[in-house]
Amino acid sequence: MNTQQKIQSLRDELRQHNYNYYILDNPTISDYEFDIKLKELQALEEQHPELFDANSPTQRVGGTITKNFNTIAHDFRMYSLDNSYSKEDLLDWETRIKKIVDGEVKYTCELKYDGASMNLTYEDGKLVRAVTRGDGVQGDEVTANVKTIKTVPLQLKGDFPKRFDIRGEIILPIKGFLKMNEDRMANDEEPYRNPRNTASGSLKLQDSTEVAKRPLECLLYSIKGNNLNISSQIEGLEKARAWGFKVPNEAKLVNSIDEVLEYVEYWDEHRHNLPYEIDGVVVKVNSFYQQDELGFTAKAPRWAMAYKFKAEQVSTKLNEIKYQVGRTGAITPVANLEPVQLAGTIVKRASLHNADQIEKLDIRERDEVFVEKGGEIIPKIIAVDLTKRPENSQPTTYITTCPECETELIRPEGEAKHYCPNYNTCPPQVIGRIQHYISRKAMDIEGLGGETVALLVKEGLIANYADLYELTVEQVIPLERMAEKSAKNLVNGIETSKQIPFERVLFALGIRYVGETVAKKLAKYYKSIDALMFASAIDLVTVDEIGERIAESVVEFFSSEENKTIVERLKSSGVQLEISADKLANQTEKLKGQTFVVSGVFESVSRNELKKLIEDNGGKVSSSISSKTSYVIAGDKMGPSKRAKAENLNIVILSEQAFLGLLK
Ligand code: AMP
Ligand code: ZN
Repeated sequence: MNTQQKIQSLRDELRQHNYNYYILDNPTISDYEFDIKLKELQALEEQHPELFDANSPTQRVGGTITKNFNTIAHDFRMYSLDNSYSKEDLLDWETRIKKIVDGEVKYTCELKYDGASMNLTYEDGKLVRAVTRGDGVQGDEVTANVKTIKTVPLQLKGDFPKRFDIRGEIILPIKGFLKMNEDRMANDEEPYRNPRNTASGSLKLQDSTEVAKRPLECLLYSIKGNNLNISSQIEGLEKARAWGFKVPNEAKLVNSIDEVLEYVEYWDEHRHNLPYEIDGVVVKVNSFYQQDELGFTAKAPRWAMAYKFKAEQVSTKLNEIKYQVGRTGAITPVANLEPVQLAGTIVKRASLHNADQIEKLDIRERDEVFVEKGGEIIPKIIAVDLTKRPENSQPTTYITTCPECETELIRPEGEAKHYCPNYNTCPPQVIGRIQHYISRKAMDIEGLGGETVALLVKEGLIANYADLYELTVEQVIPLERMAEKSAKNLVNGIETSKQIPFERVLFALGIRYVGETVAKKLAKYYKSIDALMFASAIDLVTVDEIGERIAESVVEFFSSEENKTIVERLKSSGVQLEISADKLANQTEKLKGQTFVVSGVFESVSRNELKKLIEDNGGKVSSSISSKTSYVIAGDKMGPSKRAKAENLNIVILSEQAFLGLLK
């Protein structure tokens, strides 16, 4: 055997031992023997740098330092999951599914691992990239760190596709977590709070050698790619397992919602026997054809549903009620609690939502309260332990003036929250609005962070977002922690934001109830801020999905002289306040007023391209056939009951070609 063959055979052998140990949990040699072989390989690789392989088992020990994690766009968006908490929720979900797909529906049930989601890209069987979920569209590249996780195969086995993405959860098993904390405490270090945060924090460590020391694991649950020749979720899981991934054996194919519930009940009871934490179960429509029919909402697949286990509760003392002012002036009461351990984290604060909530539960300072951790990050108070109420306790009187600017609070009719109406000079409102304006999903201004905004406002350099465009480097330099370079970056970042498209500017303005999706709809419909500014509430509600509440808020925003002046100043600064010409060129109103349902598989365009074509030409896409449907565009394999429904309702069924003809 020559050196090259020797190296290759050691790599193969070590890879197999890794697999036996970490994936199969069934080692066939001792740790000692493994180490000897690994050292032998390391020595050979050092003598022969020309035979280096980034995916060799020796690369698992780390050694790479990452200073900045690159942002990378996902090829396939990483969606979130809708949540359910009861049998009724699941049955409602099934009803929605049956409206869209034909025939029998089977489900795969999986555990919902509580860690950090990860997208791995493989090419020719080799791991080429690992990217965190981030905001779902793009995440941070953490390949060097992920390579050190032994359950992530660096080289696949068997009959894998040439290129694909696979998704999973990076978790820290409970035993490993406890061991890490023992070591920390022995070194007089603060213990980590919970396995989930420790797992996701590990991915962003700069030194991969540190990551290699942590007993992280990667559990896989979904494969994405083109032409993969996989037709169901369960088949995907089985294939991934055969290629060498760790796919927990608890995943199960079931035939009905009743069986889903059995699975949920079983794991709710037995979850504490698992080596890692789970916070529920994920149910997925098994057939990929049906998944494709169901598609996605703005934030989650329609074919998947998380079932969250009941939250854990504890009781603790409420020390004090404080009031916070948000960027819209909304007041949020917050309870400062005696710190207490709950579901793996230490809880110090709880949201009290609003005055009604405090009154309804009769929550008072110094009460003993029950705290529950649901899906949100901030836990909530669900009841007061009246047996423990101090004798001289007084009911809580809700504040009547703003804690920040002392303006008298108002409570708009029909709203649960109180607001500080001092829109123009209440500090958290002024600062919060500008912070929202510069944030990543809005104007994404590089070189300017939330704290600097607060500083700029406090120093009197800016009082609204239009003022940003008049800032000069000379003005900024004297600020705390600013140097010439960072001041220049800041001013450049503001300048660059003039390229941000209109729909995002509209979102950035921070009009109440105008979130990202609404901003897109309004931008598309009105095309310029001038047109939007003159729209009446009656006109606004004719826009698809714009309700009265949003319409009134938009009208109110533009009825303020102050806001109008600010918008005019943005316009003269060169901020994009209308849809750009080339974007307009691709849009028509040809399909205005028409609602389409798209079903089946298409030849010349993908289902998503079809949907975009419909929307760009003013039409509306709906997922189920009803009397409101104008046309059904039928591809190959359209379900027979769908076809029957369309025929019953006398809806015109178009072929792909006929539809494209319609646009000509
Ligand atoms: P959420 O963050 O609550 O919207 O839930 C979605 C997240 O659940 C995904 O991004 C995954 O990280 C995680 N997850 C855990 N287990 C699974 C699973 N078996 N299937 C899909 N997602 C899962
Ligand atoms: Zn105020």
